[in-house]
Amino acid sequence: GVAVQRYIRKCGRWGRAMEILKELEEKCATPPWKLNLIADAMNVEMHAGLASEGGSKLKMLITYVDKLPTGNEEGLYYALDLGGTNFRVLRVQLGGKDVGVLSREFTEVSVPPNLMIGTSVALFDYIAAELAKFVAQENQEFQVPPGRQRELGFTFSFPVSQTSIASGNLIKWTKGFNIDDAVGRDVVVELTKAIQRQGLDMRVAALVNDTVGTLAGGRHANSNVIAAIILGTGTNAAYVERAQAIPKWHGPLPDSGEMVINMEWGNFRSSHLPLTEYDYALDAESLNPGDQIFEKMTSGMYLGEIVRRVLCKMAEEAFFFGDNIPLKLKVPFMLRTPDMSAMHHDSSADLNVVGRKLKYSLGISDTSLEVRKVVVEICNIIATRGARIAAAGILGILKKLGKDSISEVEGQKNVIAMDGGLFEHYTEYRKYLANTLKELVGEDISESISIEHSNDGSGIGAALLAASHSQFLDG
Ligand code: BGC
Ligand code: MG
Repeated sequence: GVAVQRYIRKCGRWGRAMEILKELEEKCATPPWKLNLIADAMNVEMHAGLASEGGSKLKMLITYVDKLPTGNEEGLYYALDLGGTNFRVLRVQLGGKDVGVLSREFTEVSVPPNLMIGTSVALFDYIAAELAKFVAQENQEFQVPPGRQRELGFTFSFPVSQTSIASGNLIKWTKGFNIDDAVGRDVVVELTKAIQRQGLDMRVAALVNDTVGTLAGGRHANSNVIAAIILGTGTNAAYVERAQAIPKWHGPLPDSGEMVINMEWGNFRSSHLPLTEYDYALDAESLNPGDQIFEKMTSGMYLGEIVRRVLCKMAEEAFFFGDNIPLKLKVPFMLRTPDMSAMHHDSSADLNVVGRKLKYSLGISDTSLEVRKVVVEICNIIATRGARIAAAGILGILKKLGKDSISEVEGQKNVIAMDGGLFEHYTEYRKYLANTLKELVGEDISESISIEHSNDGSGIGAALLAASHSQFLDG
């Protein structure tokens, strides 16, 4: 009768949903041997990117940062941090030797979505106006000496081809930004013009990627920091390289013998990456098809979107959420990674957080506990894959530096400074990342390595680099 038919139909739907789930799990598998292949590929691409300009998908950008903060930096400096949905303006009072950071104030402003895809002038005018407002609040206690030009460290978290510490042309946008007329232009020139339009007298003393700022800030706090990684809206890594290991660098050999490299690892791609149909579709429909494949598998802008795409398939092919496919479920980016994370971490017996998120974010109501459990499982698969390949990326850097061998790292402490909202807030992801790195390098080496959260290191780092490249320093 009808009841039986319904039962069979239900079984069939559930069965199809389980097939989709199983296939996802298989395609996203990241056994250690595969992660090792990814790490090896990362290492190979690092060499290629350092060998010649355009030698690899990894740009391995020269940052012109050849000395990291010493702790002697002194004075009042500004920093401006642009790179995601928010930007920050900071004022940092550096106290010099043995004092460190005396005071830091900041303001955070969200970037209006229309400015992310508008014109260069509109974006930079908006930013410069916020900067001017903030500068106007400089108080008596911490201020730049009268008559002295203010200096700024500009953290600009996109791929930039630098021509000096304070200049560089935008290579391309990432992370939802798409302002055509800025590509190929010097972002410091654009910002400086906007600052002047505000009537503000301020000079950009250092242009840095957020990874480079985090590396500088991290090193300032801990001299064992060798690399910095951002896992936020986007992802990237920077590390300290021997200048002599950079064949494409034809400039003078720095006194330190070192150069910070901005890897732009978000653009890494390898046949060993466990890509699925969902990733291909997400990429094809993105603002930057073919680009930032590693980023699209690991970072905060995309994880929730991948999960949404899986849920969408389950709804369409297995009627997993009932006969009707909720309209919201079909809208790209409707499931944000913070909501995915909240579902993933739901520890209530009836998974009511999952139920609520499905309802309010995706318009899926009245879900059963069984359905909710499947949703959590999907979040888990996508977060696990992302965290594990990010760990493989870190192993790639360690391999490049020879720090994956016990004879090399005996008695050493090597610290990786991490920052970004995903790392900070997505606890399971963070745990998978740390555990996977441990699993990959083995017990002995794992003792020499630690991952440390560098809270807003990138802003402080940019201020420190502005200080060490100040026009008012001798030499
Ligand atoms: C950008 C990098 C940046 C990273 C993290 C990526 O999309 O290309 O320059 O460091 O996001 O913010
Ligand atoms: Mg940031």
